[in-house]
Amino acid sequence: LEPKEEFEHSSLAVDVMRPRRSDPALAVLTQEGMTVGEVEALVESTHYSGFPVVVGTFVFIYNGRKRQEGVVSSSQVVFTEHTPSQAPDAPPPLRLRGIMDLSPFTVTDHTPMDITVDIFRKLGLRQCLVTHNGRLLGIITKKDILKHMAQITNRDPDSILFN
Ligand code: ATP
Repeated sequence: LEPKEEFEHSSLAVDVMRPRRSDPALAVLTQEGMTVGEVEALVESTHYSGFPVVVGTFVFIYNGRKRQEGVVSSSQVVFTEHTPSQAPDAPPPLRLRGIMDLSPFTVTDHTPMDITVDIFRKLGLRQCLVTHNGRLLGIITKKDILKHMAQITNRDPDSILFN
């Protein structure tokens, strides 16, 4: 597959990223201050496989609740290295740093898609974040790229060989 051939259209990352203008905002987690119940509600109300943790990092939630003793819905979710001080009667926090990608790849909204596709291929990425002036704007998954390529070339996304 020749990326240059696919992207003569000179699309930019902003043309492929989600959310689109009319979509609900990017679903993110905050590094501090969310409870297990709030995170679960967000995970259950969406179908996304990952959530950026603001500022700038990426997380996958996998059954964390089952593995950590005593964690309940009102437990604080902690992405930091050190657990923030809590009230003595507070339930044990859920520590999620271990399952977080601490250096998610990012491109800017103006990065040409041929370069973005090249990076996905070379680094074997499954998703990357999109920023504008250093602020998180959106996300591009491998599937978003395949769909975009299919649209441009009028093909079935499943017929496109990515790697
Ligand atoms: P699938 O789940 O069907 O394999 P996918 O591989 O693109 O799709 P998902 O993470 O489920 O991965 O993303 C589904 C769609 O939602 C994609 O278009 C993606 O850009 C978008 N998306 C992913 N994460 C978020 C998020 N946190 N907030 C908003 N949109 C997101």
